[in-house]
Amino acid sequence: MSLFDWFANRKKLGPISKERQEREIADGLWKKCESCGVLTYIKDLQANQMVCLECGHHHRIFSHERIRQLIDADTWQAFDDHINPKDPLRFRDRKAYSDRLRDMQAKTQLKDAVQTGMGQIEGLPVVLGVMDFRFMGGSMGSVVGEKLTRLIEYGTQNKLPVVIVCSSGGARMQEGMLSLMQMAKISGALERHRQARLLYVPVLSHPTTGGVTASFAMLGDIILAEPKATIAFAGRRVVEQTLREKLPDDFQTAEYLLNHGFVDVIAPRTQLKKMLAQLIRLHQPYSPKNYQANSDQVNPERHSLSNSGSRTSIGTSS
Ligand SMILES: [Zn+2]
Repeated sequence: MSLFDWFANRKKLGPISKERQEREIADGLWKKCESCGVLTYIKDLQANQMVCLECGHHHRIFSHERIRQLIDADTWQAFDDHINPKDPLRFRDRKAYSDRLRDMQAKTQLKDAVQTGMGQIEGLPVVLGVMDFRFMGGSMGSVVGEKLTRLIEYGTQNKLPVVIVCSSGGARMQEGMLSLMQMAKISGALERHRQARLLYVPVLSHPTTGGVTASFAMLGDIILAEPKATIAFAGRRVVEQTLREKLPDDFQTAEYLLNHGFVDVIAPRTQLKKMLAQLIRLHQPYSPKNYQANSDQVNPERHSLSNSGSRTSIGTSS
């Protein structure tokens, strides 16, 4: 088709509907910021780790992108890619759970809502789990629980720090009790990791809610959160109805939880990798070799975690 024909066709279609315009923005080269409305060239946005250049809004990113941002190139080694979810209750709402799973797998190219593996952050070995909100709202079923438990156990056995990037709507109700027991299973694995005096850092991204908040998201030695992330157990409306009280506007945001001591550091995405590397370096077990590495690598201007709230790290430094 010649350029002329293309323009002629486009004219024939009449004025572009708002919906179509939005779709083209979403699919195309530009992205509109949900917070300030400014259009940004997608490559500029990607270069800034999907953080708005105008207002600092953190656009949602998914597991592949997150791993690419955090892990040094060519060091990622995925774990347990083969574990597939099951449908033991033969659950059905508007759609059968097994169909839902199949559709999600086709759409996301993931087996379930988490990717786990090992890699390096600024040359430091780490085991990393990244939840993926696209897959049924990042809900925690047996596969998420099993993969994270294995990941943490691998970390314990190999004396490695664990980082989990959380993003979840909570437990996966289609698996009933089996999804709820994952909270205890993961927490148990984390306790054994803690007893081995190893570092665990959860990173709470938008949104981290329900059973994930009620278990491993809040069990970190140091808890990081992305700016303005929603972090909650029960939804705002449920809490308001229970307490019969109007809640503050910033209730259940990362900043609110920082002020109330649940979150230790608000970590802007563009600094997240650096912060994690610094935390891991500071918590490396003492050995003359590490000591040498620390004095070489940690420079004073990187000690910028002083606004990190009142909590100190537990379990690893005592
Ligand atoms: Zn913006």
